[in-house]
Amino acid sequence: MPCMVPVEVVTVTGTQSRTDQRGRCDVVVVGGGVAGLSGALVLARARRSVLVVDAGRPRNAPAAHSQGFLTRDGTSPGELLGLGRAEVRGYGAEVRAGRAASAQPLPGGGFAVRLGDGETVRTRRLLVTTGVVDELPDVPGIRERWGRDVIHCPYCHGWEVRDQAVAVLGSGALGVHQALLFGQWTEHVTLFLHNAPEPTDEQWDQLSARGVTVVEGEVAGLVVTDDRLTGVRLASGQVLAAQAVVVGPRVVAGDGVLASLGLYAVEHPMGVGTHVPAGPAGLTAVPGVWVAGNVTDPIAGIVASAAAGSAAAAAINGDLIAEDTARAVAERATAPVGRAEPARQSTGLRARAVAGGGPVTPRDAGHRHGPHDHDRDTAAGDSNVVSPRPYSDQEQARCSTVPGAPAGDVVVNEARPRTVTDDQGGERTVHDAVLTARRRAGS
Ligand SMILES: Cc1cc2nc3c(=O)[nH]c(=O)nc-3n(C[C@H](O)[C@H](O)[C@H](O)COP(=O)(O)OP(=O)(O)OC[C@H]3O[C@@H](n4cnc5c(N)ncnc54)[C@H](O)[C@@H]3O)c2cc1C
Repeated sequence: MPCMVPVEVVTVTGTQSRTDQRGRCDVVVVGGGVAGLSGALVLARARRSVLVVDAGRPRNAPAAHSQGFLTRDGTSPGELLGLGRAEVRGYGAEVRAGRAASAQPLPGGGFAVRLGDGETVRTRRLLVTTGVVDELPDVPGIRERWGRDVIHCPYCHGWEVRDQAVAVLGSGALGVHQALLFGQWTEHVTLFLHNAPEPTDEQWDQLSARGVTVVEGEVAGLVVTDDRLTGVRLASGQVLAAQAVVVGPRVVAGDGVLASLGLYAVEHPMGVGTHVPAGPAGLTAVPGVWVAGNVTDPIAGIVASAAAGSAAAAAINGDLIAEDTARAVAERATAPVGRAEPARQSTGLRARAVAGGGPVTPRDAGHRHGPHDHDRDTAAGDSNVVSPRPYSDQEQARCSTVPGAPAGDVVVNEARPRTVTDDQGGERTVHDAVLTARRRAGS
């Protein structure tokens, strides 16, 4: 497959301005809403070099307030994201205004992300959080009042319209569902069937039992008085009082960048529009590409979207650690034989402390230098391996000091040997690779 040759390397500012030897940053986050910024925050705090590219049109931008985010309830969407950008930048990530146009896989791993201004940046992993676009019913006045007194989500706006006259515009299969939902917040719910399918007998029963008024006929427009919604006008000319209108927009996933990688949005199982399917932590069918937020879960509010961004970021960081670890192990296995030292008497495979002693963390052990560097040993058949840095929390948990060993020695128990590619192009377990290194050293 022909690959785009990157023409420019991203410069990531701040304390984490680290790119690898090939000039790649660790993660490009496409979309800087709550999902993208939450992911960027986790990644930047994990000391990853991060670039966030954001077109600046979060889904809830038409609303004056975003509700339900603990400690930030009622904050405007713009202020919330402004606070998020400041936090992300505080850890050294770059947040750039702009649009990502496409992405291409690079030979040897990673992606070249083409930005709207023609610049290309290279990255090891991609987190796409481009959200959705709401396609509103084609009724005069709806678009103008969207996010104000034309709403869609009871958890976002239900409290604000409590006890008011709420008109549900039945423009799809969700009309009955929304009418019953909003009945939790107000007794004054009217379902305008408009062009929705006729309710089933069971639905008629439900609507009647919950006191929902049902109006047949097409809706022609909204009545607004002094910049406030006051009614719904039918095609017949009749006007019924309403203080809020509920619509069920069809959501369209922002899959442009993903489509360039062969990842296309599909119909969401709830019939609300399209989304890009992904695994629990947001991994897509393309290795190295994660999604989070509304682009994959259009039902998610801001808390759920932020949480998804955070979970995806942790998964990405873990994936990068695994890659770095496998590479470091492979590099050790092919290191010049003189670097390895004779075997020591021990059970299990050891990483010797930095000369000079003192408490040793797994991180220290991986960066040690001096006469005992790469000191290691193993008993025949032992499945322990010396692991390189950096360690994840889980890996740290598998480390323990060796009873009776000199202060600072650690032993690492690796239950699942990973595979590495050796210098002949073959695939071997990490354990095999270490043993090979020892054989080369004559130990
Ligand atoms: C009117 C309204 C009010 C709402 N109110 C609430 C509320 O009160 N509480 C609540 O919990 N939820 C609310 N929501 C839902 C909330 O908007 C979403 O949960 C949230 O926005 C999802 O976050 P996200 O990061 O996935 O996507 P978004 O917030 O939509 O962010 C996506 C970002 O990606 C950018 N982008 C898209 N394509 C590209 C590209 N190619 N390159 C670069 N950037 C790109 C967009 O411009 C945008 O800035 C509301 C929704 C609406 C429509």
